[in-house]
Amino acid sequence: METLVRATGPRGVLVFASVTTSLVEEARRRHGAAPTAAAALGRALTASGLLSATLEGQQKVTLRILGDGPLGGIVTDTTASGDVRGYVQHPDVHLPLARRRKLDVGAAVGRGTLHVTKDLGLRWPYHGSSPLVSGEIAEDLAYYLAQSEQVPSVVSLGVMVEPDGRVCAAGGFIVQVMPGADPSVRDYLEAHARALPPVTQLVRQGLSSADLARVAAGELGVQVVEERPLRYRCTCSRERVEGVLMLLGAEEVDALLEEGRAEVTCRFCGEVYVLDAQTLRVLRDRLRSTRPVS
Ligand SMILES: [Zn+2]
Repeated sequence: METLVRATGPRGVLVFASVTTSLVEEARRRHGAAPTAAAALGRALTASGLLSATLEGQQKVTLRILGDGPLGGIVTDTTASGDVRGYVQHPDVHLPLARRRKLDVGAAVGRGTLHVTKDLGLRWPYHGSSPLVSGEIAEDLAYYLAQSEQVPSVVSLGVMVEPDGRVCAAGGFIVQVMPGADPSVRDYLEAHARALPPVTQLVRQGLSSADLARVAAGELGVQVVEERPLRYRCTCSRERVEGVLMLLGAEEVDALLEEGRAEVTCRFCGEVYVLDAQTLRVLRDRLRSTRPVS
């Protein structure tokens, strides 16, 4: 299982880092994603996982990357316990490689808006958004964190795909400096991140999440203060699917019943739930018996 590391250092430096190779490979496999789509979804899942380091208890964070590129929207969400899931609207999208044989995530995502929703267990969820500056996701998230949450951040995300389509390396880190910190610290971190090899190269060298956190902070030297699990896990279940069907109402369930059965596919994990006539009848009868009398 993969882990998410939180590390702190002098002068208000905070690092979140994670190697997410098997998590992203599982997402690719579940969605049958082509390389460019897999890279975009993988970067978003990694970003979402990293942001979960700030959550506790039942809290949840959702990223929606809504660009005008061929991928359509990307949605990912993560719980405080490290369950990450997500989907891309058009997983079959693959574009010609960009400069230096890089997967062209920016062109596949396009321009649009990044939405971040945090369910912190309060009455209303917190919602923030910012324009996509490049569609590369790491830059878009850095821009969001600086503009919308006023936390200057260096964000690096990477996904590498083998010629056979499998994900062979994925990971990322976020380095933040607390408000009021010496601006020279931020300048150093930005220059240091630019000088680092791509995250995927570091992951292929065998770095762990903790190693990645230390490398990201460079000379500032950080200490790992927390390590928690991170994995691809969906929260869908037969009960939830039945609950959603119940919301459609008795007439809709009747219409499904006429077809003999209903098949519902979870967008997040690809799980297919088949509800046979017997189950649909039970749901319909339950709806009829609980219909409010006005
Ligand atoms: Zn699911």
